[in-house]
Amino acid sequence: MKGFCPKCETEREFVKIRKEETYPVKGEPITIMANVLTCGTCGTDVFDEAVDGENLSLAYSQYRKQKGLLGPEEIKKIRERYGLSQRGLAALLGWSPATIARYELGSLPSVAHNDQLCRFSKDVAYARSLFEASASKLGNLERKRVEKALGSCRADSVPEKISRILLSLYSRHGESLRGRRRPDLDRLAEMAVFFAAKCPGIAKSKLLKMLWYSDFLCYRRTLCSMSGAVYCHNYFGPVPLAHDLVMAYMERMQFIALKPQSYGEVEGETVEPVAEFEADLFSPQELKVLEDVLRKFKSCSPTVLGKMSHKERGYTETQLGEPISYEYAMTLKAIE
Ligand SMILES: [Zn+2]
Repeated sequence: MKGFCPKCETEREFVKIRKEETYPVKGEPITIMANVLTCGTCGTDVFDEAVDGENLSLAYSQYRKQKGLLGPEEIKKIRERYGLSQRGLAALLGWSPATIARYELGSLPSVAHNDQLCRFSKDVAYARSLFEASASKLGNLERKRVEKALGSCRADSVPEKISRILLSLYSRHGESLRGRRRPDLDRLAEMAVFFAAKCPGIAKSKLLKMLWYSDFLCYRRTLCSMSGAVYCHNYFGPVPLAHDLVMAYMERMQFIALKPQSYGEVEGETVEPVAEFEADLFSPQELKVLEDVLRKFKSCSPTVLGKMSHKERGYTETQLGEPISYEYAMTLKAIE
């Protein structure tokens, strides 16, 4: 597109470039990979309202990822799963009646409200206790719907415990080790489902590396990882921290199944998908990252992929067991 460049003082062709920019969101500096219009001749940044608006909404979505805030659609899903109206959910949580309505229209929830909603969504015992305390605030019909929804939830506590351990382990690491995203095991599990479905009989060791490449490539392109997982330097390449627990979580939650397999003299495991891949969970940009990683590594043997990952700076410059900073994403060699 063309426009007036204030520096050249004439009409010039503008070009869009991508660069890191920081925007304040709720008083916090949020860094994104922004689109910026520049003069094609002198390189000066030129202001464009539409482009600036896109960047601002990117900064908002980055803020959501960083804080692990639920989006409007997710909040609506949680509410409907329990058969609640907006007013009814607010009553159970002890919030003012209009709060849920505002969140479902796109307002950013506070971190405290968000945590309470996440707990309400994942911890059935907690949801039940809130319901028992406040059922009288609901209408007859709504009360019956919630009772029915709660009755059909069976709490299996083992994956819940694993998930709590992993989340607290990952959350203890700084933003640069989580790729500026709050850890989300279900996203990590969906990424595994994606690769397991597209690569029949994939070796576990290969899958773990593809997860690493996906999270790091996503960070390289968007300054935000895909799952918020922490990765560390393992004997055979980069893997999610506590990867055995991660796999156990995915298996217990029936995302994937592990099958023993012998590779010549070596015993290993292959991964099969159990759940359907839920593309809705990911942005188009994230789906593109998964597709690119798939295309690049699909036909590599686990050994070849292992060797490639050993040449990455994130691996050569870290020690055994050490977490790998997402800043190394900017130096990935095998994929861009
Ligand atoms: Zn110019």
